[in-house]
Amino acid sequence: ETFDAMSLPEDLLRGIYAYGFEKPSAIQQRAVKPSMLGRDLIAQAQSGTGKTATFAIGTLAKLDVGLKECQSLILAPTRELAQQIQKVVIALGDYMSIIVHACVGGTAVRDDIRTLQSGVHVVVGTPGRVHDMINRRALRLDSIRQFFLDEADEMLSRGFKDQIYDIFKFLPESVQVCLFSATMPLDVLEVTQRFMRDPVRILV
Ligand code: AMP
Repeated sequence: ETFDAMSLPEDLLRGIYAYGFEKPSAIQQRAVKPSMLGRDLIAQAQSGTGKTATFAIGTLAKLDVGLKECQSLILAPTRELAQQIQKVVIALGDYMSIIVHACVGGTAVRDDIRTLQSGVHVVVGTPGRVHDMINRRALRLDSIRQFFLDEADEMLSRGFKDQIYDIFKFLPESVQVCLFSATMPLDVLEVTQRFMRDPVRILV
């Protein structure tokens, strides 16, 4: 399979090739299509497989650029990882005129609030700061259609369980959930059972 055959928007395809990708990795071949179709997804994948670009493409393919509201929320266990994901989404979306905000601790809360209120398409963040922004009503969740959890096992083992469960409760009922995890401990399985509907399962 090729990126051309994936029915991706033209401006996204351009961004993918400009970034230097020539053909989809194994996980991209299997996960991009179901994610574009709106299916819930559980991907057991290590780093190095191309998982970041998988959910970056999955999210960019479904964005309504004309709607300047947060449509996709991506959670990661650390600030560094969240910022790295933000960079990939921005780079692949280079031709799409989108605003991608990293919502992480260690930055000024006030700046975070201001950026969120000015309107963003995608938020990539750590559970603590994202939860805080939701509580402050700075991050509005009404338009969120996709929720990605990267390194779910790491996030749950770092004590973010309560915040993640809370975030699930705030999200619209119809949200698409895509979960990525290197391992599938009980904590992760519990999340998949409580919050996901008929998920596609991928092991790479
Ligand atoms: P990740 O698993 O997200 O940490 O990605 C591992 C590395 O693979 C990163 O350096 C990506 O830029 C690279 N990568 C991801 N997808 C592709 C692709 N389709 N073609 C070439 N390199 C890729």
